Amino acid sequence: MMMLTRKMIEIRSLLQTIGQTESLTLPSIVVVGSQSSGKSSVLEAIVGHEFLPKGSNMVTRRPIELTLVNTPKAHAEYGEFPALGLGKITDFSQIQKTLTDLNLAVPEKECVSDDPIQLRISSPNVPDLSLIDLPGYIQVEAFDQPTELKVKIQELCEKYIQPPNVILAISAADVDLANSTALRASRRVDPRGERTIGVVTKMDLVEPQRGTQILNDRNYPLKLGYVGVVCKIPQESKSLFKRGSANILNAISKNEASYFNSHPEAFGEGTKVTTGTSNLRKKLMHVLESTMSASLASTSEKVSRELAEATYEFKVQYNERPLSAESYLAESLDAFKHGFKSFTESFGRREVREIVKNELDQQVLNLLAQRYWNKPVENLTPEEGQTVLKTLEELPKVKEQDMELWKLRCDASTSTLTKIGIGRLATSITAQALQESVQSLIQNSTFSNHPFAVNAIREASEGILRDLSWETADELEICVKPYKYRVEVDDADWRRGRDHIAEVLKRELRDCEAAAKAMEEQIGGRRKAKDVIGFIDRVKRGEVVLEGDGVGGAGGFSAALLTKGREALFLRDRADILKMRLSAVKSRQCSTPANKYHCPEVFLDAVASQLTNTADLFLDAELLSKFYYQFPRRLEQEFRSLDESTVERFAREDPKVRKHLDLVRRKDGLEHVLKEMESLRLLESRERERGRRD
Ligand code: GDP
Repeated sequence: MMMLTRKMIEIRSLLQTIGQTESLTLPSIVVVGSQSSGKSSVLEAIVGHEFLPKGSNMVTRRPIELTLVNTPKAHAEYGEFPALGLGKITDFSQIQKTLTDLNLAVPEKECVSDDPIQLRISSPNVPDLSLIDLPGYIQVEAFDQPTELKVKIQELCEKYIQPPNVILAISAADVDLANSTALRASRRVDPRGERTIGVVTKMDLVEPQRGTQILNDRNYPLKLGYVGVVCKIPQESKSLFKRGSANILNAISKNEASYFNSHPEAFGEGTKVTTGTSNLRKKLMHVLESTMSASLASTSEKVSRELAEATYEFKVQYNERPLSAESYLAESLDAFKHGFKSFTESFGRREVREIVKNELDQQVLNLLAQRYWNKPVENLTPEEGQTVLKTLEELPKVKEQDMELWKLRCDASTSTLTKIGIGRLATSITAQALQESVQSLIQNSTFSNHPFAVNAIREASEGILRDLSWETADELEICVKPYKYRVEVDDADWRRGRDHIAEVLKRELRDCEAAAKAMEEQIGGRRKAKDVIGFIDRVKRGEVVLEGDGVGGAGGFSAALLTKGREALFLRDRADILKMRLSAVKSRQCSTPANKYHCPEVFLDAVASQLTNTADLFLDAELLSKFYYQFPRRLEQEFRSLDESTVERFAREDPKVRKHLDLVRRKDGLEHVLKEMESLRLLESRERERGRRD
């Protein structure tokens, strides 16, 4: 028999974990009673420990699903809160404290919550039982209790006392049974008294004869009967034992037995009344087992139905694709690593070269603008104008002192370029490109729906790149050091530089012309732009004098328009310079490195190319290779070492995955529970067979 109850209780817990449908459960014993009826004392007498929240203002605010597990071979007694994962708690005052905290956590506004607290107590001294302790009915409200509390408690109890649950209705002997809130509630839902056990507490507080009368109540006869108990913990044993750890079972039963035994005329064998906590326990076990057993068939039918539904959904929606949080993580990680591998094949030295060279092209353009193209055309000296703007072919003769100036300028520009900190610059733009690629890989992977993973991956790659960058930047700087002193440019370098810079200048010219066009449009079209620019030109040439710098507008143009006009003029001048430099670069004079001082564009490009050559080689070996090696390993390390609950949390971040996981889990749970139920039924019929033979 014991075995069956235990198994049924296990199945009940299993069904609870599957959850969702309230109807999918096995019956339990629900304990109801008004406050101070002695409800806690009865439960504690059954368990053998004080563990329920006490105190004048302590109202139980959540149902406690109490599962008692008999462990005949073990000595230890302990409680567990499966949902909290606190482990085994052997100190019962600690259990009491946890229950108090959980109660207090229900907001005052809500009064009570129907979210049950699950508590499992294992002990050699408890029977296998499943009980639900509900908040006590309030009869007289305390001044600081909200009025809805009473109603809410009633509603909550009402929900639990529905069939097929067994009702354990607690009433105190010193209160007229007709006034017992618990019995009145049970009568409403169980008018024929078929599934209610009446417990009459505080039997010691009424005359024995009166006690017998109560237990034989005819007004509300109960098929499962009444049991009279004395559950008060004797004062002396309260102080004798250290609170929280000692078992109070003996003290209570001794006290109880001595009361009932001392009144054999009222409670003795011939009286046909049932008394004592130990009889109550037996009755509870027996009733629970038979009730559970009665609903086993219908519950297992419901489980089969739900399983069929879940299986169908699994097939239709997910094509029977199995999934677990771990497998999801492993698959996602593999897919990500695969994506990363393909990326590494497409991003190598050539790509680094392009990135670095592009950056250096910009640096070269800036340098040229600063040192060579910085003056408006009309401000140049005729010589400068000739050299900067016109092709060398048109240059009549370069003066000796001018040569010196051009040489100085070119040397200074080369020196600036080689000293810009190419190590740091090239490393950081390459690292940044890698980081951006990782970011876009994340976005295109299943990880994109998982903020946790997005963060972890980003931090992993950032961390590795940061560490690698320090060393790489410094070492690369050392590698380019010789260029700071001397740069050799041969004919081939020159040719390539000339072709390349021509392209860069063309691109720059296109951009500049596009910007000028956009500016014209902003001004209000070509004609208008011409007028504004013409006016500004005249101001520059001193033909017109502006009053107050044109703050309030001038020449019929608003200040804003004049600003735009100046911008347009600047762009026009820059486009002119670029055009002329482009033709200079293409000219015959710029076809040889011998004229490098007059073709700074070509020379600086050739220098930039040499710097790039060193940088890409070095970055490929030091930054890319190392990152490509370390990154997947770091991910592997990070993700494989996650604990179960983190993996679970991760997988559930994606609503689609969560749904899939829930279904798989539900299906597995239902399958498992169904199998258990079948084996239980087999066991039950074998027991019955044996009973018949005996
Ligand atoms: P609850 O509010 O229904 O949980 O009631 P408690 O179990 O806390 O009991 C209320 C009070 O009645 C406490 O002071 C208990 O010590 C006392 N009490 C409980 N059972 C008995 C009993 O059988 N006899 C006597 N004399 N007092 C009891």
